[in-house]
Amino acid sequence: MCRHLGYLGPPVPLKGFLLDLPHALATQAWAPRDMRGGGTINADGFGAGWYPPGAAAPVRYRSAMPIWTDSALPAIAATTTSGAFLAAVRSATIGMPVTESAAAPFTDGRWLFSHNGVVRGWPATLADLAGDLPTQDLLTLDAPTDSAALWLLVRAKLRAGEPPVKAVASVVADVLAAAPGSRLNLLLTDGTQMIATTAGHALSARVADGSVVIASEPLDASPAWQPIPDGRLVVATASTLEIS
Ligand code: GLN
Repeated sequence: MCRHLGYLGPPVPLKGFLLDLPHALATQAWAPRDMRGGGTINADGFGAGWYPPGAAAPVRYRSAMPIWTDSALPAIAATTTSGAFLAAVRSATIGMPVTESAAAPFTDGRWLFSHNGVVRGWPATLADLAGDLPTQDLLTLDAPTDSAALWLLVRAKLRAGEPPVKAVASVVADVLAAAPGSRLNLLLTDGTQMIATTAGHALSARVADGSVVIASEPLDASPAWQPIPDGRLVVATASTLEIS
């Protein structure tokens, strides 16, 4: 399964989180510690999205290659500073394509979204839920993967004006009902608020120095990291973290 992380706080270079910290995302890609039986490494692509000051929408950089092979990334990550970002490394579920368009984050307007996990019985188990989506959404799906389909479900609710916490919580509940045993760690941000779920996978959070980091695995040995138990909904801003 994939690994993902999100940051809200004072502007910082992305490089530490993606590449430099002892257990940065690139390390979690080739030496993850807590995959819970869902694969071994995360070498099927990566992506990052961030919010440049004053920009209407986030900038996204994705690749189908392992994060550690991207020769441009160290310089991009060192010179890109942001107060909000979401990044992920991917381990493709068997049967799903390895393409740039299947790598998180998925995006729409100000939103960035990532899924760590698997929808059991996909695609048959999602057919009824997806059947309620506009046909054009289905025809323009980023990639034929469970994660891209989950994004369509969340995005449709956001576009309909549903509060993001409700949108995420209801998609997790609906998908767990339709596809029991699914692993649905979701991560969604608009650059000011971050929403995460734990359903079958690891997640930790660190609140420190006016910032919040939510990540599949702690990025360093700081005692500020707190593991998020399974079955929780996390709502964060740069200065608050609520777990319910
Ligand atoms: N099942 C999704 C995919 O194949 C998510 C991957 C993951 O968490 N490993 O893209």
